[in-house]
Amino acid sequence: MSLIKKFQCPHCNAPMDVNPEDAIFNCVSCGQAVLADGSKFDNHHILRNTLNQKKIHNIVKEFIRKKGFMRGIKGYKITNITPTLMPFWVVTSDAYTHFVGYLRYTETRTRTVGTGKNRRTVTESVTVYRPIDREIREKRADVLLGRRGSSIFGYDRIKDIVRAEFPNAVPFNHDQLLADEKEFNYLSSEIDLEAANQLGKTIVFDNHRAQAERACTKVFDCATQLTYTGTYFLHAPVWQIEYEFKGETYRMAILGSSGKIIIGEIPVTTVFRIIFLSLTVLILGGAGVLSYFFQTLVYVPIIAGIVAAAVGFFTLKNTFKPKSVVD
Ligand SMILES: [Zn+2]
Repeated sequence: MSLIKKFQCPHCNAPMDVNPEDAIFNCVSCGQAVLADGSKFDNHHILRNTLNQKKIHNIVKEFIRKKGFMRGIKGYKITNITPTLMPFWVVTSDAYTHFVGYLRYTETRTRTVGTGKNRRTVTESVTVYRPIDREIREKRADVLLGRRGSSIFGYDRIKDIVRAEFPNAVPFNHDQLLADEKEFNYLSSEIDLEAANQLGKTIVFDNHRAQAERACTKVFDCATQLTYTGTYFLHAPVWQIEYEFKGETYRMAILGSSGKIIIGEIPVTTVFRIIFLSLTVLILGGAGVLSYFFQTLVYVPIIAGIVAAAVGFFTLKNTFKPKSVVD
């Protein structure tokens, strides 16, 4: 039994195979974004890809050179490069919040009491209740992942980068995409437009409520009004890379628009373990020697102990796992 739904592209009539959980998807022939009811969705934007296979190889090389310092990673091999268009929703809005509450704090006050030779100043703590009546007014662009509980490497980490790069997004153009890089695959979104708007609204309300709570000890009233100014289906180009080193596979994800490394795994090699453990032994030994010679100074052994514990923890954390994750 096939769960694939058959569609016809409303733009170019090409046949489309769609998973039942897909709420918005793209025609592979013309790129048209299509909603689950078969209608077009035209507010589709993209961060333009600027990378290619050659640049990817250089970025990976540079990453391993820099982050692989002291690890002796020689002879790694890139085994897989998959350029993927990852789906996001960007909900833009004008948000306005009015909140009322009070802020309680203590203030130290000095005052003069008594007269004549009994005259003196006293210092006292006073609890102050200050009424707060404030407005928040802002233009927002809230980014949502298009897929729930995603297992795509690095996907949830891209959100903040996408928010920062969203001003550079351009209306999607299939020909331009092909001219930039032919190999990209679309990922569809499981979140539909309505859910995106609802989630976007919740983020704004929660954010403004949190701002009010930071400003007040107690919030009496907090009312938010939100006007949607546009909801965009946004694709971000992400290059997913796998490279092999001594039979193990390591992954990287690179944003195709800015070339930023979203996340990358790097081997923890034997060379690295040896260097790291030797350094640890030296530092711990040094701490021991110091506390022996400065026994009279009580804080020296304490500081040495703290340093030793911190270094020991860091060593354990970093040298006995198979790979490090760098972002
Ligand atoms: Zn089409």
